[in-house]
Amino acid sequence: MLIGVVKEDDPRVALVPEVIKKLEDEKNEVCVENNAGDSVFFHDIHFQQAQARVDNRANVLKDSDILVTLKPLAEADLKQLKKGAVYISMFEPYAGNGLVSDSLAKYPISTFSLDMIPRITLGQSMDVLSSMASIAGYKAVIVAANLLPRYFPMLTTAAGTIPPAKVLILGAGVAGLQAVATAKRLGAVVEVFDTRTAVKEEVKSLGAKFVEVEGAKDDKDAGGYAVEQTEEFKTKQADLIKERAVQSDVVITTAQLRGKPAPKLLTREAVNEMKEGSIIVDLAASTGGNCELTQNGKTIVEYGVTIIGNSELHTSAPIHASQLYSKNIYNFLKVMIKDGELNLDMENEILKSTCLTLEGQVKYNTN
Ligand code: NAD
Repeated sequence: MLIGVVKEDDPRVALVPEVIKKLEDEKNEVCVENNAGDSVFFHDIHFQQAQARVDNRANVLKDSDILVTLKPLAEADLKQLKKGAVYISMFEPYAGNGLVSDSLAKYPISTFSLDMIPRITLGQSMDVLSSMASIAGYKAVIVAANLLPRYFPMLTTAAGTIPPAKVLILGAGVAGLQAVATAKRLGAVVEVFDTRTAVKEEVKSLGAKFVEVEGAKDDKDAGGYAVEQTEEFKTKQADLIKERAVQSDVVITTAQLRGKPAPKLLTREAVNEMKEGSIIVDLAASTGGNCELTQNGKTIVEYGVTIIGNSELHTSAPIHASQLYSKNIYNFLKVMIKDGELNLDMENEILKSTCLTLEGQVKYNTN
């Protein structure tokens, strides 16, 4: 089985040498494009030491039995994959207009989307979304602390006492909980909102306060994802969030609804009433943002509040992001490779849930 890795327009690399070595030891071959890992300081020599073949892009694409990438390849690259190849990436089929599978079905290959791994116990070790969200949650706090014109911890000095920063976190999924832990470690006082009351105990165990809005819609059948709330709940929630936000120095927003625009939790009015110098980091920016004023990929200042719209913060720790992504891929590959041979058992829940196309036939579509 020849597993291919190419250089991407991203600071991360899909497989790191440590994981390549394991794949090689298990009788696979790995082929890596020249300079694919330079931005994470894994140079060609490191891949060669892990027994990988280092080659040009065209050869990697044409020879791979399985190709793994972080982001979807352009058409010009897809055309070069051989018939019957397996291509694994993060296609976000639920985020687009339902055409992702259709466009992939033009090629005689099978495609699997790692962001479709089901939220079941078996899927945890392959869950790339959780791996990236954890880094993003941590970085969101670091970025906010860096820009905040105040200290995070409480300090008692000869010149007086500095109160701790107040951090409000909206959404206590993987990113939100990592943000809670990081903000607590830096000494902030942390409050958290989430519609899933199941996270209440986790929030409390990290030393933060869970602010509850009564009447959230049940999400227990949504496969670990939150559901959209009623208008009445949304109004109640917006009022309470505004009340807490105006008391806060930092607001970190992480709330997502899979396949839908992110819920708007922080209104213009709330931002207007926040303290000047406060910071908002909106990790849901790519799906419209949780703050009404967020601009995806931009840092703006409105009413003296800095609003950072960034859903790519995980790429700012590319070494660890690459390591975690590689391990996730390794665990995923173990499901489809048996004794060094490709074994696409489409009864397997993980493969069934992630398959977009099978040898050119559409298997998943949001339409
Ligand atoms: P996510 O990115 O889908 O959403 C982030 C958070 O925002 C969630 O906690 C969600 O409840 C919250 N949210 C959504 N709408 C909201 C609103 N209107 N107001 C406030 N909060 C709102 O979530 P995630 O971080 O990917 O994970 C969610 C849960 O699924 C976590 O408990 C996680 O541990 C679990 N999970 C399990 C597995 C697995 O078992 N394999 C894999 C991934 C995630």
